[in-house]
Amino acid sequence: MTERVNEVRDRLRACPEPSGHEGKTAAYLAAELRKAGCEVRETATGGHGVVGILKGAEPGPVVGVRGDIDALRHVVDGKEVCVHSCGHDAHAAMALALAEEAAKTGIRRGILKVFFQPAEETLAGARGMIEEGLTADLDYMFGIHLRPIQEAKAGQATAALWHGSSYQLEASVSGRTAHGARPHLGVNAIDAAVLVVNALNCVWENPVEGWSAKVTKFNSNSLISNAVPDGVDLVFDLRAQKNGVMESMLQKVSDMVINVPTGLGAVGTVKKSDGVPAAEYDPEAIALLEEAITAVLGREGLLPPIVTPGADDFHFYKRAKPSIKAGFVGLGADLTPGLHDPSMTFDANVLPDGVKILKYAVDKLLG
Ligand SMILES: [Zn+2]
Ligand SMILES: [Zn+2]
Repeated sequence: MTERVNEVRDRLRACPEPSGHEGKTAAYLAAELRKAGCEVRETATGGHGVVGILKGAEPGPVVGVRGDIDALRHVVDGKEVCVHSCGHDAHAAMALALAEEAAKTGIRRGILKVFFQPAEETLAGARGMIEEGLTADLDYMFGIHLRPIQEAKAGQATAALWHGSSYQLEASVSGRTAHGARPHLGVNAIDAAVLVVNALNCVWENPVEGWSAKVTKFNSNSLISNAVPDGVDLVFDLRAQKNGVMESMLQKVSDMVINVPTGLGAVGTVKKSDGVPAAEYDPEAIALLEEAITAVLGREGLLPPIVTPGADDFHFYKRAKPSIKAGFVGLGADLTPGLHDPSMTFDANVLPDGVKILKYAVDKLLG
């Protein structure tokens, strides 16, 4: 298995495909799953995904394990390249090795579904799997992601990686144009939009909870500089470690976009808000993963829960079906200098341990 997981990872690393374009990766994984004896479902909603399915003879829970499979585009030395800089080649390799190991012996009860999820980076892949109805029967769902060395070293893992929620809210402010010499005849959309941005600095959530709200785009529609502009487009980037805090912020920012410009006679509109929920895990799933990590890495290898402001579309699964017992392993791999850096490297010797941790949890539920 040690050789196999690294062979698969090398194969995937040599063929990195960006979010939504994972065709070759998905075809390779589907072929390997069929060879192993898994039932295979291929998906094309939101990207190219694959699910390997094994069924036990006795009734039991439906357990999902998710490895993501997309890579990222970067510019290196002036050239555009695609790189597995988030380590999804490693996650897919561990998930495939898990499916193959489970297929060797078969599972006694319930159903194992190993998800090879596309388009994590664009937050479209999990929603694609959900739309295709592939997660409707899940009782458990486990994820795994390599961690930067600052969070976990090789030989360490956490059973609860607490991702934050991330939302982008797009808004516009419209006023009325007028000649630059006669501003009193118009309504300056920039004036009104600046007030909205200043109002954003008056958003407060509990300082004990992790959150932030900031403006990340501010574009006037004006093509000339000697007239009062009548339109501004804005984007707000919102982060929160808890879903309740995010809901509150979305409401406050939306209210400000709509209400603040009216003081100047301008009109604010929320055009769209989209994002990803924060992690919500189940104590039973966390306890099981802690037991699995301790069994594989020893007591000294088990890290406490890790809170990260980063987001992952894995959390759409539980949002779509709240009864899913979710857990997420953060696996240490001496990963430097960091995720999403095209020069990212890690110690691939940890991958078999990742497979063993997942297999331990699956065996407990389905063995
Ligand atoms: Zn990423
Ligand atoms: Zn990632």
